[in-house]
Amino acid sequence: MAIAGDASANGRNPSADRAAPAAAAANMLSGLRTAWPSLGVMLGLSCILLIWTGLYYALLAERAQAIAAASQNTANLARAFEESTLRSLKAIDQSLLYIRQAYRQDPAGFDMVAWARDTQSLTDMTFQISRIDRNGILASSNFAPNGSGIDLSDREHFRVQRDSAVDELFISKPVTGRASNKPSIQLTRKIFTADGVFDGVVVVSLDPLYLSRFYHSIDIGLDGLIALVGTDGIIRAAALGAGNGGMAVGTSIARDSLLAAFAHERAGTLLTSSSLDGIRRVESFRGVRGFPLFVSVGIAEAEILAVHEANRRSDMMLAALLTVLLLAVMTLVVRRQTDLKRARAALRDSQEQYADKSRLLEATLEAMSQGIVMVDAQHRPQVFNQRALELLALLPLDMKNGGSAPFEIDDPLGDFDTLLASAEPDRIRPNPVVLPLREIVSERRLNNGMLLEVRTRVLADGGRLQTYTDITARAAAEEMLGAAAGLDYLTGLSNRNGFGPKLEAALLAAQRTGQPLSVLCLDLDYFKNVNDTLGHEAGDTLLKLVARRMRDVLRDTDVVARLGGDEFALVLNGRSRNAVEHAARMLLDSLALPYLVNGELVRIGASIGVAFYPTDGATVELLLRNADTALYEAKSVGRNAWRAYASEDGLRERHRAQMELDLREAVETQQFTLAYQPICDTQTGQPVAFEALLRWNHKQRGPTSPAEFIPVAEQTGLIVPLGRWVIETACAEAATWARPMHVAVNLSPSWFRGTDLLAHLAEVLRRTGLAPERLDLEVTEGVLLEKSDHVISIMQSLRGMGVRMVLDDFGSAHSSLSYLRNFPFDQVKIDRSFMRALNSDRQARALVEAMLAMARALGLEVVAEGVETQEQLAMLRHMKCGNVQGFLLGRPQTAEITRQGLWASGGQDLEAQDGLIG
Ligand code: C2E
Ligand code: CA
Ligand code: CA
Repeated sequence: MAIAGDASANGRNPSADRAAPAAAAANMLSGLRTAWPSLGVMLGLSCILLIWTGLYYALLAERAQAIAAASQNTANLARAFEESTLRSLKAIDQSLLYIRQAYRQDPAGFDMVAWARDTQSLTDMTFQISRIDRNGILASSNFAPNGSGIDLSDREHFRVQRDSAVDELFISKPVTGRASNKPSIQLTRKIFTADGVFDGVVVVSLDPLYLSRFYHSIDIGLDGLIALVGTDGIIRAAALGAGNGGMAVGTSIARDSLLAAFAHERAGTLLTSSSLDGIRRVESFRGVRGFPLFVSVGIAEAEILAVHEANRRSDMMLAALLTVLLLAVMTLVVRRQTDLKRARAALRDSQEQYADKSRLLEATLEAMSQGIVMVDAQHRPQVFNQRALELLALLPLDMKNGGSAPFEIDDPLGDFDTLLASAEPDRIRPNPVVLPLREIVSERRLNNGMLLEVRTRVLADGGRLQTYTDITARAAAEEMLGAAAGLDYLTGLSNRNGFGPKLEAALLAAQRTGQPLSVLCLDLDYFKNVNDTLGHEAGDTLLKLVARRMRDVLRDTDVVARLGGDEFALVLNGRSRNAVEHAARMLLDSLALPYLVNGELVRIGASIGVAFYPTDGATVELLLRNADTALYEAKSVGRNAWRAYASEDGLRERHRAQMELDLREAVETQQFTLAYQPICDTQTGQPVAFEALLRWNHKQRGPTSPAEFIPVAEQTGLIVPLGRWVIETACAEAATWARPMHVAVNLSPSWFRGTDLLAHLAEVLRRTGLAPERLDLEVTEGVLLEKSDHVISIMQSLRGMGVRMVLDDFGSAHSSLSYLRNFPFDQVKIDRSFMRALNSDRQARALVEAMLAMARALGLEVVAEGVETQEQLAMLRHMKCGNVQGFLLGRPQTAEITRQGLWASGGQDLEAQDGLIG
């Protein structure tokens, strides 16, 4: 396929070639672009990940920092707490040591109350100071200076000191005082006698709260914990946050990891939950130097992390916000990219589809066996295929230059645009056919003999689409098949074979329905001129155009046939006489319009003869014959005319039909006679021969001229028996004549079609005994037109028998002179039409002289017939014409009169005959 454009007229499609690299580039680009959204997504996701991991680590760090700060804090507090505890314990221990010293120095003067007072001023939470004697009996206290006698020997703070060899401060677990009924911690030291013997213990009972005093001076939050714990895990003193730690006093935290940690190190910090209240705290512990105690300061994790937690929450909120924002942006980007991608894919798809389509179109066009060319309104080729170039024998370059002849339309109807421009306006019918949007089909014979079918479609934009199909073979086949099927290959109409059955069927239908029917014979005028001057191709084209116009004028139910050459026959169904006459007029008008054949304006005309059923005949043959007769009538009045079969013709036909019947009867019943007309020597006037002329005395009409009935006998075949009778009778009669005159018999043309003429003649001559030399056979010119070889051989055989051959009516047809040379004649008979002209017409005289000269040159005898006047005879004598025949010399007479005349004149001389000539 080619799409002709600026860049291309080379039969290739450049847009398809260009499309390949462009598409690849586009693919690459779009590939890159499609990678973008995922990159964007990745970036977005990384951002989100970064934010969150960053936040996570930041929070982790912040948290760790908070914890570390808290640890530092608790460690410091623990140290301070240890210091404070140590100070308190040392102060108490110091007091105990002083008291024991005082007691040892002076047990009797020992004043417990005074010491208690002193000690209490030291520790305001010391609510009891007492001495237990070596037996464990409370010896004295600040509440009971002389003792209460309470046995405390089972108490740990006594037992441990009694049983231990080490002199050290003992700090008891908190116990409920038996005397005070308050929880207290007992701090004891051994008392020795002056000899250094164990003499009981001195006890300071301490409110655990004393130890807790410190707590209130520091901030350990609401859930903080401060505890003084023995290495046994029992809490000696405690404060829980801002609240009272009293409830915890005496409780064991042996199971807590705090104790386990303390077992390993003297001081440390750990994050742990307390078994006391289950709260997780950062706790720092620290051993109290020199005592089986450690302090623990804990701040609740929740409180440590409170700020951090708040920060974390807001940070996370921020991060979440950021994430949402990023996701939104990403979604947006992705959606846009997806949309873009989709649009791009759609574009690519449609591009591919277009490419596919155009490839398909190209393939289709190139696979077509037809050539195809599309031109625009300016006749510039837009699309064409290789096949078109081949068929039109064009080069791609021709296409580029475009608009050349091949794309012009061959409009079978005659391109009316052109016609209107060139034809005389009055010849165009009021409603000219405007070039319509239809398919115009025409055929074109190329120089190489190929027959192209050209189909042209006028497009809405004024362009044209033409297809070219090689129909050489098809046309040939169609011609054969069509002819067999009753179709005329050239025009597509019926042919003679096809027409007969159609007319027959139409006639049957008309007979059945009583509908009128008419048969038209149509003959083109001047068609031969077109054939001769423009050639047969043009003639063929013209015939097609004619057929097309006829079809356009007629109805579909009408039958149109080409019987051969430029003869057409039509059957018009169901139309009144008036309608038929109108149709005939329309046909003549349409066919008389000019035609455009091979670029030339051609004018022809037509003549039409019409026969109506049933008035002009009831059979196929009769209707056709009468239409034909009417056609000749039409032709005789002038061209471009139509004639209905006249009613007098109808009468004539009936007359003829009657004659046919009568003639048959006449042949059977021997109603014929022969008359004999003398043929005389011009100089002497003596008869040398008699011409036998048929006479029919019709029972009603009386004597009837052979000119009337011979053609009927000829047509019906009755001429054969009639002719036999004539020859036989004439020969038999001549054999009886007194003088051996020649007898001339007119031969019907049909004699020459068979071969039995010779045999019959020989038989007749033998039977009648007539010498063959006395028989002259007259043949008219028309007979010799056909089958000359056959005719010549028969003539030669006849002459071989001795019979003389005479060319009758010489000069009545145009090619007579050549007949004389070509056929073996002995005599010519100059047609009687020359005699009439002989007196007046010098030219006729010259012609007769020429004929005589020619006959003489060819060694032929000459008879002039139709001699009626003395002047004619004198002239012929002067011209030295051998023989004459005519009313002047003798009318045709009956056989009897002729016979008697011959007998009578048997001894007469020429003088007597002269009298006859008078
Ligand atoms: P034809 O052969 O030319 O015969 C001569 C015709 O001219 C005859 O007419 C005759 O009567 C007529 N004739 C003779 N002299 C004169 C004359 O001076 N003036 C005029 N005006 N006419 C003259 P006919 O007998 O009516 O015959 C007419 C035609 O019929 C013949 O023309 C011939 O062609 C044909 N015909 C006659 N008899 C036979 C026959 O037996 N067989 C055949 N096949 N045709 C015949
Ligand atoms: Ca004759
Ligand atoms: Ca004649």
